[in-house]
Amino acid sequence: MTWLFLTSKDLRARLVWLRNVLPFALFALVLAYQFFSSSVLNTFSRELHLLFDLIAYGIIGPVVTWFTLSWVITKVTEGERARAEKAQAEREQRRAVEAAQEQERLLAAVCANSADAIVTMDNTGIIRTWNRGAEMIFGYRADEAIGKHFRLIVPADVEQRGELAWLDQQMREQNFVRNFQTERLTKDGRRVVIDLTRTALLNEQTEIIGTSAIARDITERVRAAQAIQQLNLELETKVVERTRQLAAATEELRRRNAELEKANRELQKLDELKSEFVSMVSHELRAPLTNINGSLELLLQDDAPAHDRNHREMLQIVQEQTMRLTRLVQGILNVSRIEAGKLVLQPQAFNIVALIEKVIGVWDSRGVANRFEHPAILNLPSVWADRDRTEEILFNLIDNAIKYSPEGAMIRLDAQSDGRFAIVSVSDRGIGIPPNEVDKIFEKFHRVDRRDAAENYGHGLGLYICRRLVQAQGGKIWAESVLGEGSTFRFSLPLAGRGELEPSNAKRPSGGGRR
Ligand code: ADP
Repeated sequence: MTWLFLTSKDLRARLVWLRNVLPFALFALVLAYQFFSSSVLNTFSRELHLLFDLIAYGIIGPVVTWFTLSWVITKVTEGERARAEKAQAEREQRRAVEAAQEQERLLAAVCANSADAIVTMDNTGIIRTWNRGAEMIFGYRADEAIGKHFRLIVPADVEQRGELAWLDQQMREQNFVRNFQTERLTKDGRRVVIDLTRTALLNEQTEIIGTSAIARDITERVRAAQAIQQLNLELETKVVERTRQLAAATEELRRRNAELEKANRELQKLDELKSEFVSMVSHELRAPLTNINGSLELLLQDDAPAHDRNHREMLQIVQEQTMRLTRLVQGILNVSRIEAGKLVLQPQAFNIVALIEKVIGVWDSRGVANRFEHPAILNLPSVWADRDRTEEILFNLIDNAIKYSPEGAMIRLDAQSDGRFAIVSVSDRGIGIPPNEVDKIFEKFHRVDRRDAAENYGHGLGLYICRRLVQAQGGKIWAESVLGEGSTFRFSLPLAGRGELEPSNAKRPSGGGRR
């Protein structure tokens, strides 16, 4: 093995030694062989002796020479390889040392120029190194800080609350303190918040020989966090305040609602009282009016005792006004019945054309000046409705047509079917209705303002009652009018086929037509 580490000088020395020793060794061997030959081989035959000599000098000599030279070559080769390997190892070691030195320089540069403060102190707290980051954060140059105790940058109150003692204890017990948030003092007296990581520096015997400290200035971050916290607090306070206000407003709303509900209930009660009162008064009025009417009819009969002309005319006026009062009372009674939900319908299948003819007959018999026109209507299916109510509707529409037309004007009645409904129309050539009033005339007590025209008697209930009666039977009612030319009122009623096929719909069939 020692050959491996031979230098070329050592090798030469060994070879010199071999050159000096080998001849003597060979001589000693020859001597030994001669001695052996004279004492042992002479006893053998001459041929055998010759053979031994041949082996000893002809073969052993060259073999020893061959082995010796081979050994020398091997050693020389091994030596060369070992030297080459050693040189390679030395080169690699040099490279590693260079790399380590480079790393060290880099690390030193990083430490020196780091934006974080990197400071080392000995065991007594005296500052030994002070990088650029420390200069920037604390304001002291390296030459101002090195050699001073690091208390230089510790605020008095921080020291008083025992932070330094605590840090020393941590060093002893754990060898480090990580991400400890604290405060330090700069050269110009400002307090900065830092994130501190301290590590004990150990020698080979793991004894603490100092401390390294890395400090990051987190003043801005902490201030921002504090500002956000403050904002959050303010926001929370505002939310609480708003929630309180909202709760108060909700409470107020609830209180007002309760008051409104109470007022509503009282109003409803008053409304009921009013309806009851109106109904009661109307009932009370109807009976005497009926009696008065009957008596007047008797008085005005031709065979009644003779009266003078004036007396008869006055009686006729009294009769007209009584009928007017009767219609009003009847109208009010109808409305209160409808609104109280007491309207009872008795639907049946009947021929609407026959009903139209009957109503025209009644009006004719009253001697009105108007002419009624209605084309022959063939094959119109029966309707499913309350016959008396439908008659009432027709009566009202014809009454209006007469009232709002010049004397003797034509009134036309018609009925058609659209397959589902029968649509009945009453047209006149009267004064017409202004376009903006057409829809309103179906409202309760609504009358068109006609200050410039002759006043017609009315109370604005007829069309309202018609609408409620038509709707209650599953139909609709609407009007078309041209001011000064005339109006057409139409209403729809379900055809009987549907009602009969679907008895459940008999009392409340679905609507048709427009309005
Ligand atoms: P009123 O007793 O006043 O006739 P209605 O409810 O029957 O009450 O009618 C409401 C209003 O509609 C009437 O005041 C009238 O101005 C108008 N009106 C109703 N029918 C006609 C019509 N055929 N022509 C013109 N105006 C009409």
